[in-house]
Amino acid sequence: MSELVIDQLAVRVGGKTILSGVSLTVRSGEVHAVMGPNGAGKSTLSNAVMGRAGYDVASGSMRLDGRELLALETWERAQAGLFYAMQAPTEVPGVSLEDMLAAAIGASGGAAGDLGERLQTEAAAVGFDLALLDRSLNVDLSGGEKKRSETIQMSVLHPRIALIDELDSGLDVDGLRTVARRIEQLTESGMGVLVITHFPRLLHELKADQVHVLAQGRIVASGGPELALELERTGYGDYLEDEPPVSPAASRPQIDDPFFMG
Ligand code: ADP
Ligand code: MG
Repeated sequence: MSELVIDQLAVRVGGKTILSGVSLTVRSGEVHAVMGPNGAGKSTLSNAVMGRAGYDVASGSMRLDGRELLALETWERAQAGLFYAMQAPTEVPGVSLEDMLAAAIGASGGAAGDLGERLQTEAAAVGFDLALLDRSLNVDLSGGEKKRSETIQMSVLHPRIALIDELDSGLDVDGLRTVARRIEQLTESGMGVLVITHFPRLLHELKADQVHVLAQGRIVASGGPELALELERTGYGDYLEDEPPVSPAASRPQIDDPFFMG
């Protein structure tokens, strides 16, 4: 049983406060979705949890199975059991998917063993063209192929907790279903998921447990999967900054009104 506990996390990016107190707990086998308007800080949250440079944690804590992540380098967080499928995965010329996974497995003290075979099976499971396995990591892959590649990595590494940022960007409907099913299987064997998405469809495929709305730098609402459907109808308007209060002077009628009680 694993647990990622994000507690009152405040994050500054480029000198601006983007997150001002986000609290969220993800346990083994659970799927938590973070939704919210563009620019709300959803990717900032996953970048900060993974320790990406430039995402400065101003206060709060993040613990994986009781271990504070703040003091750890990104690779140490990965070794501790976190995986981050980025919104726009990085291209690494000269390093194949197999090279990268062999290094990751080796660094965690595992044996790569039948990795080549394993990759073929996992690639077939998510419809990733086997010919692409020889390419450099993410280089010249389409958006959808990159997301399939991330899913293969997740399947092979089987992290404790996976942060998945906009898996839906670039995947067609069939691809999304295939990839979501593979991830759902991983959750059944204990992986916890924090998924960022705009699409209730994906949450349905992943059998999401909880949906959280990130706006104004914090989680402003949490609920079951029905919250995602409601958001699709209503948008995020209700969660955005309130209109500034109208001052009494401004609300005074413009014309001389004998019945005005102000
Ligand atoms: P979301 O994923 O919710 O759409 P982001 O977390 O990507 O939002 O961005 C939140 C805000 O932080 C935006 O205003 C964005 O421009 C800013 N931001 C994010 N990353 C960086 C960065 N590396 N440098 C400067 N500004 C950034
Ligand atoms: Mg984003």
